[in-house]
Order: sequence, then structure tokens, then C-alpha cells
Amino acid sequence: MIKFLDLQKTNLQYQTEIEERLMKVFRSGWYLLGEEVANFEANLKSYIKVDEAIGVANGLDALRLILKGYKELGFMKDGDEVIVPSNTYIASVLAISDNNLTPVFVEPDNTTFNIDIEKIEGKITSKTKAIMIVHLYGQVVYSEKLKEIATRYNLKIIEDNAQAIGAEWNQIKTGALGDAAGFSFYPGKNLGALGDAGAVTTNDKDLAKTIRALANYGSNKKYVNQYIGLNSRLDEIQSAVLDVKLKYIDKDNQKRRIVAARYLNEIINSEITLPQIENCINNKNHVWHLFVIKTNNRDELQKYLEEKNIQTLIHYPIPPHKQQAYQKYNHTTYPIAENLCNEVLSLPISSVINSEEVNKIIESVNKY
Ligand SMILES: *Cc1c(COP(=O)(O)O)cnc(C)c1O
Repeated sequence: MIKFLDLQKTNLQYQTEIEERLMKVFRSGWYLLGEEVANFEANLKSYIKVDEAIGVANGLDALRLILKGYKELGFMKDGDEVIVPSNTYIASVLAISDNNLTPVFVEPDNTTFNIDIEKIEGKITSKTKAIMIVHLYGQVVYSEKLKEIATRYNLKIIEDNAQAIGAEWNQIKTGALGDAAGFSFYPGKNLGALGDAGAVTTNDKDLAKTIRALANYGSNKKYVNQYIGLNSRLDEIQSAVLDVKLKYIDKDNQKRRIVAARYLNEIINSEITLPQIENCINNKNHVWHLFVIKTNNRDELQKYLEEKNIQTLIHYPIPPHKQQAYQKYNHTTYPIAENLCNEVLSLPISSVINSEEVNKIIESVNKY
């Protein structure tokens, strides 16, 4: 069986180093808000090239805390609108609605899967306060035009960077493109912890200070609470693991690019549409968190590959506006997002998949 993602193999690559760091935390007797999270935050901010990085409990909290921070700073209030792609993972939308803000969906481009920047301006109202871009599947979405729209309407650009750590647009890393960014280090992400973990990056000192307090019970000083906060801290164990793995993220992403290049060059089947990238493969605008193909007979293709012992997944089968959780949007329609949900299929891709496995996947897909 070719697994969709072999997490054990991924982490065993760095076993010796990770074990050493884990034992160091174990022996230290200090498990929260210590040296390891400080190290990881320092290394993350120098990697992304931003002034501030704040470790938090997970990727959803990173996005929630950014919006909560902007509310505390008076930049947005209940009922304000945030633009978000109609085909994202539900976490992007949950972060918005959880803050009593209103998600305003904008359709993606059918070929890149990313929000169609051309369609954003038409959705801006007097209540719009931010655009949440999602670098979906690992591909950067950004342009001068996006920046110009945000500036003209005084909107914050918030990056959902859960899937694209290490990707670059004109030598600027995702996480440094917008006003603030949320990262997820869920085990299956390109930089994965051994459990839940996340981070916020920003160049905005006030926002960073507010988020740091909000994530720690709304407190900057023990037992003095400035905000109605939450508990969303990145612990020392996860920080230690992430600090080891961060050193190898460029190398790991490069391995993914090699697999993606093979799929793009060698999958030849008129039933299948390959993902479009905006620049050439050697450019750094894609880190291939997922390799997503499209086909009219998706469920059939998935079943066929399963019979060939190749595990695939669907990202995502139901768009947020059609989820039961968002009943109030169920009557609305975003046909591009809805179509994608019926056509997309994610092939195995990772930093540890080997060339025999890739050969077999290509051969099987071509024979379909
Ligand atoms: C994984 C993911 C998140 C949420 O991250 P968690 O760490 O699981 O909370 C948010 N947005 C996108 C696009 C994701 O893929």
C-alpha cells in the first residue's frame, strides 16, 4: 500500500536530533513559555523575515487570534466583513465567524484553485475590513493588484499560511506578504509537530503584543488580565520538535518539488487535468503541500487507485457554505468551488515518498 502520507517515516528522518531535544525538555522541568518556544519563535521569524512570531496552540487559533487582536485594537468590530475564498478548509471561515465577523466568499480560479483576485473588489462593502488569502495546497496567491486593492480600501491582508510554509513570491516568503499570517503545524502539514501547534507572524508590534496576551488568558503580567483572552500556547515539547524540523524545511520542500515535477511531466491522460502553477516549477511559489488533480470521474478514479494500493484523499469534498455548520449560507451558491469539490483528488506527495512509489502512481494514473 502506498500511503497518502507516511508520517512515521517523515519524522524518523530526524529521530536522533528530535529525541535529544525532547529529552532536554523532559529533564528541564519547564514545559510552557520557556526557552524552546523562544528559540523556535526567533528562528521562525528570521526564516520568514518578519519582526514578530508568536507560537500558539494550532492553526485555527492563529487565525482566530489575529482577528481577535484586530478587534481589541479597534480595527474591526462585530458584524464587519472578511473576504475569504469559497473553496478553503473550514478553519479559515471558522476563525472569522468565531469572532462575530461575517465571511464574504469569493470564488477561486478554476485552474490554480486560489482565490480569484479579479473578483475581490466587487465584494468589498463599507463593512469590509480584511481579505483572508489562503495559499491553498501550497501555492502562493498574491499580486501587486491585491496589495493595491487592500491599500485603497484600507483592508488588512491576512494570510492563511497553514499549507505554504517556505513558499515565496518575488523572494518574499508567505507569512511576510500580508499584515499578519497564521501557520499550522498540524502533523500532516509541510512543517509538522507531534500534535497540534501553530504560530502567527507579523511586522505589527502592537498586534503581536495583543496576540501574545490574548493567547495567554489576556494577560501580559501574571494574574493581571487586560483582555478576555483564551489559553492558546505552543508548548515546549512541540517547540523543540518544530525547531529541529524548521532547519530542514527548505530541503523537504525541494523534495516535494521534485515529485511534483515528475507528476507534471509524466502524467499523460486526457481524462485528467493537472494543477496549474503561475510560474515555472523551479520558482519558489509552490511548496506542494498537496498535489491535486481534477477529473470528471473522481470517485471512480479514487476507487481504481485504491485497487492498485494507492491511497488518495479529497481536499475538500464539501465547501464551507454547504456545510451543516453554516446552514445560513446553504442557500447560496459558489459554482466554481462546488464543482472543484466534485472533481479534485489529491495524489500522495511528501518529502519521503520514493521514486519507485512515484513510478507506480504515474503508471497507474496513466493507465486509468
Ligand atoms: C490545517 C489548516 C488550518 C488549521 O490548522 P490546525 O492546526 O489544524 O488548526 C487552517 N487553514 C488551512 C487552509 C489548513 O489547511
